[in-house]
Amino acid sequence: MREWWTNLPPERKREYLDKRKPKPRKRPNKRWAELPLEKRRAHWTVHNAIRDGRLMKEPCEVCGVEKTDAHHDDYSKPLEVRWLCRKHHGERHRKYLSGMEAF
Ligand SMILES: [Zn+2]
Ligand SMILES: [Zn+2]
Repeated sequence: MREWWTNLPPERKREYLDKRKPKPRKRPNKRWAELPLEKRRAHWTVHNAIRDGRLMKEPCEVCGVEKTDAHHDDYSKPLEVRWLCRKHHGERHRKYLSGMEAF
């Protein structure tokens, strides 16, 4: 330990350490990371398919709203998706897939 450090009063040491402490990392992806792998894989398959032009985003099949997300009834068939707006997506999960989070 260098001398300047040894000579620091304890409260200055704490202050110094606090400043150097890395900021607590935001973890927006925590929930994502906790998703089952097949769910994540299905999501990425759709994402890539849209990017590659193999799949087109469509309006909500219930109400026709344009802003939709791909919904999977069966994650083992990642390209079989339903296009649902946020509202109807959530509804479908509540009705048919109890306990599952909308994705
Ligand atoms: Zn809708
Ligand atoms: Zn869904």
